[in-house]
Amino acid sequence: MKIVIVGAGPAGLTATETLRAQDNHTEIVVISDEPYPPYSPPAMVDHFLSGSKAHLWRGEYWPEEIGVEYRSGTKVIAIEPEDHRLQLSKDGALEYDKLVIASGSRLYAPLEGADLPGVYNFKSLSAAEALIKKIEKGNARSALIVGAGFIGMEIALLLQGLSVNVTQVEMLDQVMPRMLDKETASFALRAMRGRGVSVRLNTKARAFTGDKKVRSVELESGEQLEADLYIAATGVMPNVDFLEGSGIKVNTGIVVDDYLQTNIQDIFAAGDVVESSDRLTGDCFVHPIFPNAVEQGRVVGLNILGYEISYEGADQMNSLKHLDVPIMAAGLKDGDEVLRVRRDGSLRTLYLKDNRIVGFQLIGDVHPAGVFRSLMNRKEDIRSLKDHLLEPTFGQGIAAWRAITAPRV
Ligand SMILES: Cc1cc2nc3c(=O)[nH]c(=O)nc-3n(C[C@H](O)[C@H](O)[C@H](O)COP(=O)(O)OP(=O)(O)OC[C@H]3O[C@@H](n4cnc5c(N)ncnc54)[C@H](O)[C@@H]3O)c2cc1C
Repeated sequence: MKIVIVGAGPAGLTATETLRAQDNHTEIVVISDEPYPPYSPPAMVDHFLSGSKAHLWRGEYWPEEIGVEYRSGTKVIAIEPEDHRLQLSKDGALEYDKLVIASGSRLYAPLEGADLPGVYNFKSLSAAEALIKKIEKGNARSALIVGAGFIGMEIALLLQGLSVNVTQVEMLDQVMPRMLDKETASFALRAMRGRGVSVRLNTKARAFTGDKKVRSVELESGEQLEADLYIAATGVMPNVDFLEGSGIKVNTGIVVDDYLQTNIQDIFAAGDVVESSDRLTGDCFVHPIFPNAVEQGRVVGLNILGYEISYEGADQMNSLKHLDVPIMAAGLKDGDEVLRVRRDGSLRTLYLKDNRIVGFQLIGDVHPAGVFRSLMNRKEDIRSLKDHLLEPTFGQGIAAWRAITAPRV
């Protein structure tokens, strides 16, 4: 049997390692359009800020160490399921018995001119290096980022850390609108501004303008903003272009069943490229975060091995690591009851529905996150814990142990 994995991000890598951990013999080929060994995207910011090599999390000898063929710098350009065959940008075609699509996503902004040369991306290491090289050459003193979502904020903090003057425009009235509630978002906004990032809320970009190259961003108000660097970061878009004509069902991302199999036999998918059901609401959409990619890669690997594991559902979760104060949010940001406490520069907010935690937001003291997450994902009835959830020590010691080990209601 030959298993082919498209993409060596967290999803593809985990699928590969899950398969290899239980099966030493099957031929596995991992294909990546990146020229690098597998890397962890969340560690890229640290890499560019501090020179850390932690993003190359498995090292360059990973393929030999686990016994897989790694074809870097190779793009899958088409899939022909009827013949169990892929067309590659290099070295022709490749046959498979089982295929895992883990091609991830890219940053985008649905604006006119977003594909003009000079509009930078930061979703892949190659894209990030192109941007950083321009800064290192001294050709970029200012940057304009369209979108103040989570990745846009991370990029803003990185560029500011590299002495670039950053302006960020966001059409809504808060930063990180998908994940943060108003209180947590206004704290994050103050912290961003405190770091020198100029964040403009309620400011809608209309287009990137320019002829052969981007020259400015035009706002809906008509104002033109100019910078040395332009970044489109209003959201992520699954990398599905190469699936055209394959018959694989795609909405925004690839549609999969409970076992993360696509509508085509022998083809599975995992990570940012997939539309997965939400653990809390059951709604299907792209959940582009690292832990989901890893867990989906694991489930796909096990299902190819024949375990028939049903995927439990994706989490909505994020953390901002490069502000001076950690910020973390998970789940929903509304409920029928809200518990909130401010203490010593930290803020803890819990959203409850029917006496169950459906979301939480933490600023500063993030240590109870693991316990809150566990209670939330297990849909635990928290009536008996309610008086303790806001205590400073909740999530430590015996309370954490009780919360995690309490029998299901
Ligand atoms: C700057 C940054 C910071 C982040 N920080 C966090 C964080 O703190 N916490 C968190 O949970 N998440 C974070 N994320 C998101 C997280 O990195 C993604 O959710 C995760 O990487 C998704 O993994 P994946 O394997 O599905 O896709 P990807 O990591 O996108 O990997 C897919 C790979 O497939 C390759 N590929 C695509 N198409 C093809 C093709 N046709 N042929 C061959 N190869 C192909 C791509 O080049 C890519 O290397 C961050 C992302 C970025 C960019």
